[in-house]
This record gives sequence, C-alpha cells and structure tokens, in this order.
Amino acid sequence: MMEILITELDVKDIRFPTSLLADGSDAMHTNPDYSCAYVTIKTNKEIEGYGLTFTLGRGTEIVVEACKSMFYLVKGQNANEIFAHFGSFWRKLTSEPQLRWIGPEKGVIHLATAAIINALWDLWARIENKPVWKLLTDLTPEQLVSTIDFRYITDVITEEEAVELLKVNQKDKEKREEILRKTGYPAYTTQVGWLGYSNDKVKELCTKFLALGFTSFKVKVGQNLTDDIRRCQLVRETIGYKNKLMLDANQIWNINESIEWMKQLAKFEPTWIEEPTSPDDILGHLKIANELRPYSIGIATGEMCANRVMFKQLLQARAIDYCQIDSARIGGINEILAVYLMAKKLGVPVCPHAGGVGLCEMVQHLQMWDFICLSVSTKNRVIEYIDQQHEHFEDPIIVQNACYMPPISPGYSTKFNENCIKNYSYPNGEKWRNIYEQGLFHKLSD
Ligand SMILES: [Mg+2]
Repeated sequence: MMEILITELDVKDIRFPTSLLADGSDAMHTNPDYSCAYVTIKTNKEIEGYGLTFTLGRGTEIVVEACKSMFYLVKGQNANEIFAHFGSFWRKLTSEPQLRWIGPEKGVIHLATAAIINALWDLWARIENKPVWKLLTDLTPEQLVSTIDFRYITDVITEEEAVELLKVNQKDKEKREEILRKTGYPAYTTQVGWLGYSNDKVKELCTKFLALGFTSFKVKVGQNLTDDIRRCQLVRETIGYKNKLMLDANQIWNINESIEWMKQLAKFEPTWIEEPTSPDDILGHLKIANELRPYSIGIATGEMCANRVMFKQLLQARAIDYCQIDSARIGGINEILAVYLMAKKLGVPVCPHAGGVGLCEMVQHLQMWDFICLSVSTKNRVIEYIDQQHEHFEDPIIVQNACYMPPISPGYSTKFNENCIKNYSYPNGEKWRNIYEQGLFHKLSD
C-alpha cells in the first residue's frame, strides 16, 4: 500500500458577516454570521485534504479548539491505512477515552469530528482523483459498508443487510450516472422566505426562482402566525398550487403549539413542516406527525440531529416523513452513510439540509451517491439550495434548470480559494479589519 503520511493538520476560524443583510435569518437564529471551522490535512506528498463544519459565528473558536484536541489522533497516520479501515478509525476518533466525556458523539466535539472526517474524505477523493460522489459509487458494497461504525444501530440494520441493500442496485449504476450527468439532481430553494425579508423581496425572489425552473419553495415560519399566513399567501399567489411549498420552524414550538399553528397553515398545503420542535424530542415529533398526517403535512427534521442513534429512533418511531441529514454535523460521511442505509431500509426519503457554508457543496455528493447506489430514485427527494457563499470555493456548485450538476473536480468541493482565507479569517482577515474600522461590528473583547 502506498504510504501517504499525514504530517500536519491546521484549522482556521472563517466567518462571513451575513448578519448585516439578515441573510439566513430564521425563527431561532435571528442574526447568523455564516461561518465554519476549516480543517486542512497536509501530507508528505503534494496532496492535501480540506474539510469543514458549519457554524453561525460566535462559538466557532470553540469548535476550532476541539479540532486541535483531536488532531493528535490523525497526525502521523498513513492515510491509506485509515481509508482501508475507516470504520474502526472513525470509532477511534469518536471513542477517545477522555474526549468522549464532552460528547459523546454530540455537540462541539462531534462537529469537530465532522470537520476532520470531511477533510479525510476530501483527501481520499483527491488521492483517487475523483469527486467524492464518484469515489463512493465506485466502492464495492463491502468497501463502502466497511467505513461505517455499526455500534448502536444493529437492531435496525446490520453490516450484512447494508451490503445486500447496495448489492441489488449494482447492475444499472452506469445508467443512473448517465442520467445525473445529463440532467442533474433536483434542488429546492429556501431563499424566498427568510423571516427578515420584506414582502416585495419575497415576491421578487419567488418570481426569480420560478423563472429559473424551481418547482419547490421553502418558507420560514414560527415567529408570528398572522405574518406567516400573510407570507404563505404571498408565496402561494406567486408560485400557485402546482408547485411545492415547504415550511420550516427551526425548533421554535412546543409540541401542542406546533400542531395548532400548523393546522392554521394547512390550507396552504405544505409538503412538510421542518423542525417544528426540539431536535431531541423523538416522541414529540411522533405526536406532531400523528396529528398532522391527516392534513397531508409531512414531518421533516435532521439538520441538528446529534448522531445516528437519534436518527435511528426518529426513523424507527415513524416520527419523520423526510430525513434531513446535514453534511457538517454528525460524524461526517461515515456516520451519514449509516443514516442513509437506515432510512432506505425503513422507507423514508432523505432530503439533505444545505445552504450554510459549504453544505450545498457537500450534500450534492451524498445525494448523488444515494441516487446511483441506494435509493435509485429522486421521487420525494430534493436537495436544499441557497445561493450564498459559493464564490469562496474553488469548485462551487453548479445548478442548472433547478438541478445540481455532478461535480467533476476531485475531492468533496470543500476547498476555499486563497482570497477567501485572506479576507474572511476571523478576526484578522482583511474584510474583518475593514468592518471593524467602519464600526459595523463591535469586537466582543472591546
Ligand atoms: Mg431548516
């Protein structure tokens, strides 16, 4: 086996001042500065890996420190050895006997795991000279399954069952790859309905995205019912009832409140209500689902689901109709694959969360693998799309006719361009220095 030695790891705090324009505002996160902890893995060859986890500004420095605490587990390793035993390496990372106390497999330490694991997959794909979706689809079912740690989920799916699920779809893989290369993977837009946007802006954006070919639109709700009704009406007037409308409450409601509020919005025929309540409340989601399914409203959640064990229970309990994995959360690709496999077995479509820094870039790879190798369908499946921060990446997403086109460049599409790092490193990047000079932000330490 060729030896590619991991010689150095680096992590940067990168922040974009998105709160200045209310981009990304929702019922719970009213002033986010889209940010990330950005990991670079250096090797004794020319090749490097780049990975990130998404954050909202303050607190990124804590994730950065958590990454640093974990680096010793990766430094000095032979990269190909890691990839040959990726499942057990993932377990080593998440079961570090002292660090696991501040998780386990949740919170800051698990976000740091995601950033490091994402960088490792990027490195692997670059070594193989393939985009990650192609790396995933070219792995044999056995190889792919060997990257997953099945601890805590074998009551729902075993390694053998996972291999079987993948084996049945091997023969027409090329055909589906061809379809993807021709038409891409359907996207939906969240950009029409941020809470901070005015009526005119909502209407203008609906018209714009309709013209671009979008057929699914998402609106933020949950702060004020009268205002939600007004904005849903506005969106429905513009997009009609043939197109899809999804709603997202970002965890603001209690259980009974979710049910009552959504009954008031049922006339707008939403496909799903996303994150109605706490991401940890499995039985709460089940109660909401039972009350709202008679209205044909589905339940979606997952962007802040802590790990595969929580996903397992949401799926087992039939508490969700749409499973929304997040590429920068749970423990990166290895753990996300486990969730896709459980969702497939239990018949729940995966519609990935995206939109934050690098999330669109990453989830497209996963969903394309799912289409080629696992679910082999785009029915009831769609990838979230938001047109923000793509310009900072070397290989930004390409969306044509409201579809994500398969990335061509090697890696996980997560490498920032040099200017981005120079400008948006926090707090000393050039843009940040200008912002402080203009008095637009105040340093917390001041
Ligand atoms: Mg959401």
